[in-house]
Amino acid sequence: MENPAHILVVDDEMGIREACKRALAEEGYAIDLAEDGTIGLQRVKDRSCDLILMDLMMPGIGGLDLIKKVHDIDPEIIIVIITGYATIETAVEATKRGAYDYLPKPFTPEALTALVKRGLEKRELRLEAQKLHHEREQRLLELAGEKSRIRTIIGCMADGVLVTNLERQLVLWNASAVKMLRLGGTDESGHPLHRYIKNTSLIESLESILTSRDEHISMISEELQIDDPKSVLMAALAPVRDERGELLGAVTVLRDITKLKEIEKVKSQFVSMVAHELRAPLAAIEGWLEVVISGEAGGDETQKRQWLERAKERSKSLLALVSDLLEINKIEAGKVAQKMEPVQVTQIIRKTVDFLKPEADRKKISFKIKFPDQLPAVQADVQDMEKLFMNLISNAIKYNVDNGSITVKGTVDENYVGFHIKDTGIGIAEGDLPRIFDDFFRAENKGTSQISGTGLGLTIAKKIVDSHFGHIEVASHLNQGSTFSVYLPYAPHTTAGVKAEP
Ligand code: ADP
Repeated sequence: MENPAHILVVDDEMGIREACKRALAEEGYAIDLAEDGTIGLQRVKDRSCDLILMDLMMPGIGGLDLIKKVHDIDPEIIIVIITGYATIETAVEATKRGAYDYLPKPFTPEALTALVKRGLEKRELRLEAQKLHHEREQRLLELAGEKSRIRTIIGCMADGVLVTNLERQLVLWNASAVKMLRLGGTDESGHPLHRYIKNTSLIESLESILTSRDEHISMISEELQIDDPKSVLMAALAPVRDERGELLGAVTVLRDITKLKEIEKVKSQFVSMVAHELRAPLAAIEGWLEVVISGEAGGDETQKRQWLERAKERSKSLLALVSDLLEINKIEAGKVAQKMEPVQVTQIIRKTVDFLKPEADRKKISFKIKFPDQLPAVQADVQDMEKLFMNLISNAIKYNVDNGSITVKGTVDENYVGFHIKDTGIGIAEGDLPRIFDDFFRAENKGTSQISGTGLGLTIAKKIVDSHFGHIEVASHLNQGSTFSVYLPYAPHTTAGVKAEP
């Protein structure tokens, strides 16, 4: 017998002990013998056994006490009482205390082996049940762990998650879903869906998933408009099925696409504005070329030349527009490519003024530059600074009057270094001021009608200033000149030790 059952016989009568040993050894069991309760208990402590044949009346520890002491050590040991003093009362008492059965002396070897066999089977069953119980407990523990892990993961997701059963109850959801759909007061599962979800479009889609007989439906995607505060959600709804394909409910994943939608709108507005702005000069160029080609001018070379000059003029402004568009694109795409370093903007402004001087001289415009010495450096990209002041100073010349002047000043406060470009030009009407930094905006008045431009210079200037965490402002009155002020943060570790320049 592989791993034979181990049986202990505790009896003070040697004849009984030996008789038991003989009968059981023949069945292949491993046998241990003890002549009283104390030795018997020691044997159990030394080497546990499967079944004990135990006399009730013994010197020292009696059988009834021994039952308890043995079961304190191992409650699964089967105890069979063998005694010559069999009475119903003692039998009942012994079983009450945990004995399995009772065999009155004298007994036949067959009766003994049959009872031992039954007892061992009983033990086998008990151990098996215990093992199953333990496994089930373990599994339940794992399931509980799994459930809380899933809850934790879903709880951390930025996307909203909602799980609904066939009874139209909410069974699982996360904080993002609560925030996106403004689900108030739901902290336990089993709530009816209609009470919490007010969005009719989402309810309808859930219904169509939960009532669909079509096993091929794998997902429904739709945009949800949410009021208060206004937002747009992308909802992806999918059926939840068990391994046999039976529908159990629906899972909804929600993503906030409000920002994306806004970007999309701005993009499409920008594209249509660009198309519109490109169309006008292209149509004009085509028109001038057409009259030249049609031969309308006959042999008049001067007339032809004039028309071609006009076409060239418009193509120049078209090129300027495309260059500005490319510039905007570069700023948008190249924010990461900016090389931010401490920059002395005063030097950049002085160089720009020198560069634009011939243009200013043509209109007899004079420059005054008033920088305090030791103006702190700003944290900036040199090329961006060059573009920024090129745009602002060339505008101050372009929109100035003959014999006008331009004053450039530097100031400093506790957070920013300020650069102020003041001109004595045509100024900007109050109604135009709010739109002055918009894409393609050009003020329309008799002062500007003869001046060409793209309406993108100030857009570029603002984008540059924004990308440097600064701000740009304008103060202007029609026919009284304008002042554009740029404020840029100091470079780190630069102190504002300023002494006014005379
Ligand atoms: P552009 O000069 O190419 O038209 P900008 O974006 O630089 O484009 O300027 C937008 C509009 O703002 C100009 O068309 C003009 O009407 C107005 N503007 C800009 N700078 C000045 C200024 N210094 N004085 C008066 N008007 C200005």
